[in-house]
Amino acid sequence: MNRPPVSIVTGGAGFLGSHLCDRLLAEGHQVIAMDNLITGSVANIEHLAGVRSFKFICHDVTEYIFYPGPVDFVFHFASPASPNDYLEYPIQTLKVGALGTHKALGLARAKKARFILASTSEVYGDPLVHPQPETYWGNVNPIGPRGVYDEAKRFAEAMTMAYHRAHGVDTKIARIFNTYGPRMRPRDGRVVPSFITQALKGEPLTVYGDGRQTRSFCYVDDLVEGVYRLALSDCHDPVNLGNPQEMTVLEIAEKIRQLCGSNSPIEFRPLPVDDPRVRQPDITRARTLLGWEPRTSLEEGLKRTVDYFRRLLEQGAL
Ligand code: UDP
Repeated sequence: MNRPPVSIVTGGAGFLGSHLCDRLLAEGHQVIAMDNLITGSVANIEHLAGVRSFKFICHDVTEYIFYPGPVDFVFHFASPASPNDYLEYPIQTLKVGALGTHKALGLARAKKARFILASTSEVYGDPLVHPQPETYWGNVNPIGPRGVYDEAKRFAEAMTMAYHRAHGVDTKIARIFNTYGPRMRPRDGRVVPSFITQALKGEPLTVYGDGRQTRSFCYVDDLVEGVYRLALSDCHDPVNLGNPQEMTVLEIAEKIRQLCGSNSPIEFRPLPVDDPRVRQPDITRARTLLGWEPRTSLEEGLKRTVDYFRRLLEQGAL
């Protein structure tokens, strides 16, 4: 190929999408970010203004995606992704997982591009198998409040495999576990930005339930590395991407409080409906097929994230 690879990133102004755009640009790609900005923000990509190989198109990818010229990779990362967001936008969440995936796959098919789906550990629901390997089919409540996200992503995986089998599209599926880092929205409701914001402002840390539910947190740069390796791989089956270091919500609250040097008290709140009790990726497949595993320690990743939120605080944006 005597031109740079061209990548379209749906959700390119979001948390993961914008970091992915940075990485692809660093790899010499020409990058087109698409986003309708319902949960994404131009602030996440404003540092790319004026970069010749980057373009932003404000578009709702549940509608037909028109792009002239060659495309080599379609990264479908558009979706509300925090429980608060998908409770606020339930229908948009279902639409972008279903109709948006269909449109993005259609584009990949027409352009003979590789397609990479941002799927989620939520396909495992409240898991009865622990840790979760890709072979586990999950335990999802289809009609619960989280069902809009979980089922949309499950549908998206089914649609992706159908395009692979029926149309021969070169598809990849990343099952992304809890990820954190700079550019998360302070008020998106997810646990890391919530606790950091609360700790920096001296407000109580809102722990849901008894705080003994577990999650496993991956730093965003590690995650993007995994996505990039997956995109270049020959693997069509889903691959878990996440950090297997599991901890309770109370432990992450303590850690964040300590890193922020905060005296905020812990305040217990009711556990949201269908909140998974445990979550930890089995990353054997990613290790074996991609030679990938997370490298950033929780301490280091949280420090970088806290620095980002401190800057927002100084700017009066927290
Ligand atoms: N959580 C919490 N306090 C908060 C936000 C979240 O205790 O202010 C808990 C939530 O109930 C869940 C875990 O932290 O058990 C992770 O929540 P998050 O919204 O980050 O993502 P999830 O993994 O549930 O999709």
